[in-house]
Amino acid sequence: MAGKIYRLSCRLIIGVFLATSYRTHYISELSAEMDGRQVVIAGWVHEVRNIGKIVFILLRDHTGIAQVMGKEGLSSDEVIRAMGMPKESVVMVRGKVRKNAQSRAGFEIIPSEIENLNPLESTIPFEVTGKVPADMDVRLDNRHIDLRRLETTSIFNIQSAILNSFRNTMTRNGFAEIRTPSLVEAATEGGADLFHVQYFENDAFLAQSPQLYKQLAVIGGMDRVFMVVPAFRAEKHNTVYHLNEVTQMDIEMGFADHNDAMDLLKKTATRIIEDVSQQNAADLERLGITLDTPKIKDITYKGAVGLLREEGQAIEFGQDLSREHEEKLCGLLGDLVLVREYPASVRAFYSMPNSDDPKVCNSYDLLYKGLEISSGAQRIHLPHVLIKSMKEHGLNPAKFDFYLNAFRQGAPPHAGWSLGLERLTMKLAGMPNIRECCMFPRDRVRLKP
Ligand code: ATP
Ligand code: MG
Repeated sequence: MAGKIYRLSCRLIIGVFLATSYRTHYISELSAEMDGRQVVIAGWVHEVRNIGKIVFILLRDHTGIAQVMGKEGLSSDEVIRAMGMPKESVVMVRGKVRKNAQSRAGFEIIPSEIENLNPLESTIPFEVTGKVPADMDVRLDNRHIDLRRLETTSIFNIQSAILNSFRNTMTRNGFAEIRTPSLVEAATEGGADLFHVQYFENDAFLAQSPQLYKQLAVIGGMDRVFMVVPAFRAEKHNTVYHLNEVTQMDIEMGFADHNDAMDLLKKTATRIIEDVSQQNAADLERLGITLDTPKIKDITYKGAVGLLREEGQAIEFGQDLSREHEEKLCGLLGDLVLVREYPASVRAFYSMPNSDDPKVCNSYDLLYKGLEISSGAQRIHLPHVLIKSMKEHGLNPAKFDFYLNAFRQGAPPHAGWSLGLERLTMKLAGMPNIRECCMFPRDRVRLKP
């Protein structure tokens, strides 16, 4: 642990660092080679240490931790003040970099001034250093403090890189980013698990997915669209994989079928994993994760059921895969598994039936390290097939008027998918609970902060 807190992050800071009135450098930008340079750094007091005659502060910003000596340069008053400064005080330090082979980072800061920017008025609810581990609930209740732990920062650095990589991949492939509404009149997928809201004189719901809207954009001729959207699911489960508000990275493409969309999904997932392993090397190291980019293994649902049965799992054709099945499949086939052609009965009504085998549809899930991270399908673009499927799924076509009409007005064949941001973060960051990977998670009992 002690080794961990000293290690400096070398997070790639892309572009020019913008110095502010409070700092000239982030801690990760300092090095022994800067011996003698005057710098201003700012952050929080991670620790105050008093070893014999030497007093020093470990100063932390979101990029790392630096040793700020109190021995020289400072007046004794200032040293005493610095010593008396409680952990997590927010400070600015002016000083000089000094090469020091004894310090773990290879340098230390000799301060000429340490300013407490806002003296603490309240106690900190848990140890940011991790010396006394805090429960996840306590950390989530105080997320602004939890984010000061560099491990937590690393999770959200990884999440940021995922979003960036997704956006870059889509833009490079000619997709346009669009916005879709969160307030909707009717269930988008026909499910019952919706949050109801009062919308002036009317009833409304929070969107459980942008599905119908992204299809409308493609029918409208945008051809290739993507979005990063919140999706709200009023499912009452309490698992380590489910949130009630999630972030979906969605795409939809026109004049395309499931094979085209699956190819893009594989390319995107691989690219994201590669980007994170390159750009977040320090974050992954801090979290103790080694990432490699696995080859993607394709299997049909039918093949997966056969394989699971051979392994002694109780599953019949027509049943959805359970989490245990997903874990088993990844154990057998590898970290990234694409399962295709699920039975129509376990998929959303808009999934295109397979032309060779009407019992299955052109749908697929991508599993990563034993967990579903993405679902997709070729969509039904023919109105009469759509109406038939709605009825088979127990839905009333009359309630989907605005949606159905669009398919009568020149809807091209199209396909798409949705990738769950928090689940992907969870698997890349090696976190056991999805709540760690959502900055302010919403679950059945958590509605604040
Ligand atoms: P599951 O069966 O695992 O509950 P789902 O099949 O209902 O998920 P989809 O509708 O396929 O979910 O949503 C697309 C993606 O969004 C999922 O593959 C997953 O990555 C993510 N996702 C969906 N629902 C949740 C949720 N409640 N919590 C976290 N992520 C979710
Ligand atoms: Mg799914």
